[in-house]
Amino acid sequence: MSTSAISISRNRLDGKVAIITGGASGIGASTVKLFSEHGAKVVIADIQDDLGLDLVKNIDHPNVCYIHCDVSRETHLMDLIDSTISKYGRLDIMYNNAGIMDGFGASILTSKKEGLDKVLGVNLYGSFFGAKHAARVMLPQKQGCILFTASVCTLIGGIASHPYTMSKYGVLGLAKNLSAELGQHGIRVNCISPSGVFSGMAPGLGGVRGVLMAEDVARAALYLASDDGKFVNGHNLVIDSGSSAVIGQPF
Ligand code: NAD
Repeated sequence: MSTSAISISRNRLDGKVAIITGGASGIGASTVKLFSEHGAKVVIADIQDDLGLDLVKNIDHPNVCYIHCDVSRETHLMDLIDSTISKYGRLDIMYNNAGIMDGFGASILTSKKEGLDKVLGVNLYGSFFGAKHAARVMLPQKQGCILFTASVCTLIGGIASHPYTMSKYGVLGLAKNLSAELGQHGIRVNCISPSGVFSGMAPGLGGVRGVLMAEDVARAALYLASDDGKFVNGHNLVIDSGSSAVIGQPF
């Protein structure tokens, strides 16, 4: 059997254009930094304008910009994609990462439709319409990569609120279905499912042993978005130190 040298290139996203929703904070912000270090042109899409603009200033790279986009509104996503095409001429990577948690620990008996609408509106509908409008421009290119941040709660119950868990199961289902529809046209669709990440969503996890850092998830996104993951489609990449695989393993 012959062996060949494996080289890991520094510029793994050279010339690629990426949009990262929820890119102003946490996992999204780390991914913005990593993708731009690897040569991508990156659009940060978020509703926290101050954080997003500060990030652009801190990265200080001509190929990183910020666009205000509320992913719960389809028109915002449509405009985001169209503005990206006007600016850069193409879209290679759409990372649907924006998400919110609401009603942690609340019983179904006290849960209200408004809470459900809010979480599904951002986490699930935002992912759906982000993918829809990305596919609109990626299909003619016959090439692209769509990513979602789901959660380890797609594998195990009782660790997040009901609406949040529902939303992330929906995201995973969407990714599986889309990988079948779009895969045949050269567009790969994958999910990343982390356990607890120290971020804006979970600031209380700072310093807790075994908790993921946002960079740990960003590196997984880089793998899936680059040619290193060119044969990976319809996958749910779980990053949880094995906690969902072994009974009694702490998160
Ligand atoms: P974060 O709060 O640091 O980042 C989330 C970002 O999404 C923020 O910048 C926020 O402004 C943005 N956002 C919220 N609503 C938005 C909207 N309507 N439109 C556009 N942007 C919006 O938290 P994070 O942990 O980095 O979250 C990123 C993703 O990771 C989310 O989808 C979350 O569900 C998922 N996740 C987080 C954890 C965790 O423990 N932190 C675990 C598993 C999955």
